[in-house]
Amino acid sequence: MNLADSSTLASALITRGYRRVEHEQDADLIILNTCSVREKAEERVLGRLGELYQHKRRKPSVKIAVVGCMAQRLSQDLRERVPHVDMVLGTDRLFELPDVLEGNEGTQAVMTAFGHEDIDMILPVKETPYSAFLTISRGCDNYCTYCIVPYVRGKERSHSAEYLVDSVRKLVDEGVVEITLLGQNVNSYRHGDTDFPGLLQRVIRETGVKRLRFMTSHPKDLSRKLVDVLADEPRLLPHVHLPLQSGSNRILKMMGRIYTIEHYFKIVDYIREKLPYFSLTTDLIVGFPTETDEEYEMTLAAVHRIRYDSAFMFRYSVRPGTTAAKLPDDVPEDVKIARLNRLIRLQQEISYEVNQREIGQIRTSLVEGDSRRSKEYRRARTEGNKTVLFRGDHAPVGSILPIRITAADAFTLHGEIAENG
Ligand code: SF4
Repeated sequence: MNLADSSTLASALITRGYRRVEHEQDADLIILNTCSVREKAEERVLGRLGELYQHKRRKPSVKIAVVGCMAQRLSQDLRERVPHVDMVLGTDRLFELPDVLEGNEGTQAVMTAFGHEDIDMILPVKETPYSAFLTISRGCDNYCTYCIVPYVRGKERSHSAEYLVDSVRKLVDEGVVEITLLGQNVNSYRHGDTDFPGLLQRVIRETGVKRLRFMTSHPKDLSRKLVDVLADEPRLLPHVHLPLQSGSNRILKMMGRIYTIEHYFKIVDYIREKLPYFSLTTDLIVGFPTETDEEYEMTLAAVHRIRYDSAFMFRYSVRPGTTAAKLPDDVPEDVKIARLNRLIRLQQEISYEVNQREIGQIRTSLVEGDSRRSKEYRRARTEGNKTVLFRGDHAPVGSILPIRITAADAFTLHGEIAENG
């Protein structure tokens, strides 16, 4: 979501005559688009702002803007804590940065009030010449007890289906072949009579997009209808990111997740029944307040049963202002670290085994460029959202190729172009 917002803001500035520079020392304006979801992310921003203090002393004319979730959360306090920050624009106001820079009427250096956004006015932007993120809804109404997002991104608002279909058409006309639809909870998308499966059907039927993905899904709202649409539409890629968070019903309830592990299993079983090839990824938190060893074991057991392709795994960190922040953070840090390390080891073993089963399969993959480690290999992304490395200088970036998987580890696939498809 932040990447998408950064691209949109950059494009808004470029349209107004600004230009991107390679090096920080050449910039007249430095923007930090921030994340508040974990404490570490905010600490990094404060660290970066500390470094920029010296830079600003050497070049006093440079303007520093902090935008996004941390700007929203700390608002005026941020400027008081870090006086060399010139502008603080929250999640609903960041796209007004060009107006603030130009001193347009009604703008201020600190703007964090909600309710100012006409979301259909935010233009979609390409991430690369061949791929794009497209935000379908902003904000979240779920208030999971550990999460700061509803407080910093505001109430859920959906873009109109007309705006989204039109945006996809424009992106496709500009050469984009793969689009990822984004929302904190895409499954609760609703605009007028259009729900999320209906939106997917409209985008597929009314545009020429070749590959369509979406994220993130919430288990309480992922419907059978959505799975049926996924199974019926080959241009919808077979990957769902479905955060589980915990395998214990008591912890899920304390987290405010509104589903049980049994419900989650039912969704996964239905997906696997309908889609023979399918990639499933998740988010997991260990060490939530009061989590016992037995409850942690339930998370391990769920991971064993589900066998995710990959997972983002975290130890619980308190976010001030959330409901869970009022609970005792009573799982000792060393226990949280040990639980996390064991979970990561388990998931890596599973990822390795799942990827081994890809060997021999042909995966239609989007060429993204050279391998980050070796110029000898090209890098592509499979339908299941996995990186595959292959030899093939002639494979143009943005092309879609059948790649036969020949080897795999826990993180990456290796393959070769399957000449006859
Ligand atoms: S669904 Fe829950 S975890 Fe996800 S953004 Fe909303 S409140 Fe946060």
